[in-house]
Amino acid sequence: MNKVPFITKEKAQEIAQTYPTPFYLYDEKGIRENAKAVKEAFSWNRGFKEYFAVKATPNPVLIQILKEYGCGCDCSSMTELMLSRAAGVIGENIMFSSNETPAEEYAYAAKLGAIINLDDITHIDFLEGILGALPETMSCRYNPGGVFKMSNGIMDNPGDSKYGFTKPQLFEGYRILKGKGVKNFGIHAFLASNTVTNEYYPVLAKELFELAVELEKETGADIKFINLSGGVGIPYEPGKEANDIRVIGEGVRKVYEEVLVPAGMGDVAIYTEMGRFMMGPYGQLVTKAVHEKHTHKEYIGVDACAVNLMRPAMYGAYHHITVLGKEEEACSHKYDVVGSLCENNDKFAIDRMLPEIEKGDFLVIHDTGAHGHAMGYNYNGKLRSAELLLKEDGSVELIRRAETPKDYFATLDCLEVYDNLGR
Ligand SMILES: *Cc1c(COP(=O)(O)O)cnc(C)c1O
Repeated sequence: MNKVPFITKEKAQEIAQTYPTPFYLYDEKGIRENAKAVKEAFSWNRGFKEYFAVKATPNPVLIQILKEYGCGCDCSSMTELMLSRAAGVIGENIMFSSNETPAEEYAYAAKLGAIINLDDITHIDFLEGILGALPETMSCRYNPGGVFKMSNGIMDNPGDSKYGFTKPQLFEGYRILKGKGVKNFGIHAFLASNTVTNEYYPVLAKELFELAVELEKETGADIKFINLSGGVGIPYEPGKEANDIRVIGEGVRKVYEEVLVPAGMGDVAIYTEMGRFMMGPYGQLVTKAVHEKHTHKEYIGVDACAVNLMRPAMYGAYHHITVLGKEEEACSHKYDVVGSLCENNDKFAIDRMLPEIEKGDFLVIHDTGAHGHAMGYNYNGKLRSAELLLKEDGSVELIRRAETPKDYFATLDCLEVYDNLGR
């Protein structure tokens, strides 16, 4: 996949006059085209719904764009529920897939009419204690343990993951829920992360469909939906082939027709909870080179740092970088591109070959639309950047302002720190 910046150098200069770097820029056109493709890829399934994983990009303006394509919200905390509600997504358009859930969050999810997806069998009693009676529709998260394999080798390690019910717990849980009056059932599983292969959903779907047939036969539970959750990935490296959502949708259809239809379960709805695939490629972090340093290595210091994008520091994740205005220049210089934290892992790129960078150059950090701004934090007293939407007509809308010192000090109201600064 070719990595193309959403904007030119001139456009970046123009935007930066109103909204100083660093800022996140989201491409409305790309978001819309992709959301439409997802919808079409699963249009063969009458009940299909994508519940956008809010944690990936918790911005109500973006959630509302996805809502136009029939998307709901996958939430896992109080504030994500509140955000979803603020974006006008309520009721069964919310999937509450949480874990180690506080009582008040379950109560609020139930109040909004969200579908509750339990992470553990002990939460049946916990939830009943909070609500008095269980909702008519309930889902359980499944964890088969072991390793999750596809034809290209081992993909992930569910046996090491804290989430979900074991298989025997799932059968027991369904019986208990049925006994407590639950009428509509769902199954959920998230078994591999950032999969860049069209095979993941179909392989997962086959496993869940076979399980659903068994569960319905043995417990008599009426299974209404199967939630394939997230994990559909994007290629962060240039030149790597992206997933094709049409091929993925067709792959799921094939196993649906092989397994569910013959079992008389041809009315089961397919749900997804994609985050990365929905937003990842459609966000870019724009930052400016502010320093260059020549010591034991060549460093370019930029005005963004790991608080604005944590993935490289946290996972060693690769994010492609383009120097605006130098797209066609040879990558003749080897740099570490670094932020200003007092942490040596604050590096957006290590030993990266790039065109010669001068102070004042704009750098675009690609594929930061999911798990980017959302993972921001305030270490070293650094502030989080603005989020901007690049609209289809080329104009730019501020969809989250940058933090100010006042925001940083807001939780110290007992000390009136900000007032004492005399500002
Ligand atoms: C994180 C998460 C997702 C989204 O994952 P992506 O890899 O961004 O698609 C979906 N569901 C649950 C329960 C999650 O925790």
